[in-house]
Amino acid sequence: MIQSLRKKLTLLFLGLFLLIYVLGGAAALGVFYHGLSLALDEELRDLSSEILPAIQLSTGKPSLKKWADAAEHEHLTSPAGIQLFDQKGRLLEKYGLSGDGLKKGELKVQGDNHTISVKSNFEELHEDGKHLGYLQVQIPTNSRDTAAQQFGLTMLLMLPILAVAVSFAGYFFSGLAIKPVEKSIKVLKTFVADAGHEFITPVTVVEASLQTLEEQLKEHNIGLDVLSMISRASQRMKDLASDLIFLAKLDNPDAQLPEELISLDEVVDPAIEDVSELARGKSIALSCSSVPELPIYGHRHSLQVMLTNLLTNAIKYTETGGSVKLDAGQENNRIVISVEDSGIGIPADRLDSIFERFYRVDESRSRAQGGSGLGLAIVKAILERHKSEIEVQSTPGKGSKFIVRIPIAQVSVAISKH
Ligand code: ADP
Repeated sequence: MIQSLRKKLTLLFLGLFLLIYVLGGAAALGVFYHGLSLALDEELRDLSSEILPAIQLSTGKPSLKKWADAAEHEHLTSPAGIQLFDQKGRLLEKYGLSGDGLKKGELKVQGDNHTISVKSNFEELHEDGKHLGYLQVQIPTNSRDTAAQQFGLTMLLMLPILAVAVSFAGYFFSGLAIKPVEKSIKVLKTFVADAGHEFITPVTVVEASLQTLEEQLKEHNIGLDVLSMISRASQRMKDLASDLIFLAKLDNPDAQLPEELISLDEVVDPAIEDVSELARGKSIALSCSSVPELPIYGHRHSLQVMLTNLLTNAIKYTETGGSVKLDAGQENNRIVISVEDSGIGIPADRLDSIFERFYRVDESRSRAQGGSGLGLAIVKAILERHKSEIEVQSTPGKGSKFIVRIPIAQVSVAISKH
């Protein structure tokens, strides 16, 4: 339980980290990309203002020939494209790539043998207040796109490394976080073990004294109703003490619960027999389907207790005249036993809690039925010992179905263990 809690916390930690990383990464990438785009805009503006003075406008027709010759002579690197247009938007001169007319913003232009993404901007050219044409400058956006891609790729490559590191950190910190819980569970288990043993001696003394008292009163022909009340109460205390002792034994991994090869009917038959009197007393129709002969490798007494507890609950929480049905069968390599009743049912939001120690859906009802709140905790502990599972389906007012799945023994393995 503690380990599964620790794993859940680690997964939660990891999930949270991944969410923050993905959202944070996307936001960082967006900011980075936007910053680079702004830098490109500035570069474009700088280039325009650098080229503008070199344009000859005196002839009435804009020309950059002189600037181009000088640039070629000085081996100056030029931007992706510079174009001059007349006032009607007709191309006059072009250097480098040629855009498809006058355009602003991001566009694709045809390069030598592939298309290139560029940022384009143009400005009007004036001489003595007369509009003579346009200067269009384009610069490639590949440096920005490559930087953004590398940023994204780095984040992606970092992800598995960080995820592993965060998982380790999460596992470590969840270990620290659940230490107090672990301590409380340990204290509870110790309490369960101690309380059971502390209880049993005085209860046995009360029982023995009660018997002596009863015999003495009988000799004097005195009958006291109160004696039967004390006897019932001491029986309940004795049951509680034995439940606590048994639970403590199940909790202790070193406690001996000798396992053997048992046939399924050796578990089912005694359990049915144990509860048939109780069912008859409440006029409950107790039925059992034919039980297949399937082998279980386990602790005979515990398995019988497990089934008796489920059947007892089914009868306890079913109104007089109702029905309780036990079915047993096989599902792949597991034995499936179901105990179904037509009783009061369990609300859906309580289903997870009913296996907790001392948990009761309806305190007063359970107490009136003589329940200690340990029956299902014992069932769960027994099933855990047998690497088995339990599932509950229930509809309030209609009934409940407890389904147990136990591995079928591999007879050869079981015999060699035996
Ligand atoms: P209890 O001794 O109170 O019966 P259990 O641990 O056996 O304790 O069961 C825990 C609680 O689960 C019970 O108090 C009862 O409210 C509920 N419960 C268990 N089995 C059934 C059932 N077959 N039908 C309805 N409620 C049930």
